[in-house]
Amino acid sequence: MISLLDRIKNGEVLVCDGAMGTLLQDKGLKPGECPELWCVDHPEKTKEIHQQYRDAGSNIVETNSFGGTSYKLKHFGLGDRVSEINTAASTIAREIAKDDQYVLASAGPTGQFMTPLGTETEEDFYNAFKEQCIALEAGGADAIIFETMTALEELTVAIKAAKENTKLITVASFTFDPQQNGGYATMMGINPTTFAEAAVSAGADIIGSNCGLGPDHMIKIVKQLKEDAPNTPIIAMPNAGMPVIENGETIFKETPEQMAQKISDIIDAGANIIGGCCGTTPAHIAAIKSILEER
Ligand SMILES: [Zn+2]
Repeated sequence: MISLLDRIKNGEVLVCDGAMGTLLQDKGLKPGECPELWCVDHPEKTKEIHQQYRDAGSNIVETNSFGGTSYKLKHFGLGDRVSEINTAASTIAREIAKDDQYVLASAGPTGQFMTPLGTETEEDFYNAFKEQCIALEAGGADAIIFETMTALEELTVAIKAAKENTKLITVASFTFDPQQNGGYATMMGINPTTFAEAAVSAGADIIGSNCGLGPDHMIKIVKQLKEDAPNTPIIAMPNAGMPVIENGETIFKETPEQMAQKISDIIDAGANIIGGCCGTTPAHIAAIKSILEER
């Protein structure tokens, strides 16, 4: 199979999956249950979700391992099952991806801070990401995305752990919010320019943004990243519009058609891989795919 990076180099725009969490809930994941444990306890249901996205036209299967570091798993009493759960996550994804889709392993933030802001050392973070990366590669992942990240120190140590211990392609994806000055920054105060420079110099093969406030903002964020890192491929995985709170629940209302209308602008801004984050479904991915086929 041609590598993911070569296909991007050849000018292709690839489609990635949409949301995982909401689909797991539709299949019976209860509040307070560990989503990643479903890779072990309900592999068939997790695989059904991967298959739905494959059928929608995704080129990349994203694993159910977002909360797969020991930091996150220990909240569920699963801190000693990191290897088992993450290897299961990428094994399942590989089974659906076969040899004509790529497996992108998902890794989210630890939820902790390094000293002096928090109590964790760089070595603690390094070891946690190392453990997760090795397990994800063992199950057959091609690449790893550190996503929904907001802190540079955490990102750079995660990339280092992946680079030094695996052959995985590394993807760095931050979540930005609009600022009063018209720009964007993470909740840790990192703007796209600072992120792009740090991610590229840490060795990220692909950079980008996920989650946030929908496709309209994503167009501007991608434009900025392209300006800051013109030679690095870009991934964009927006939410299905602005989050709205209804009956105490956060929901995303942008329909597949509404979201798809903005996809061409995100590609024109410089994105090489397009997927979806919160609120996106296989129908959103199918709509994105049809836009790409029309271009
Ligand atoms: Zn999201």
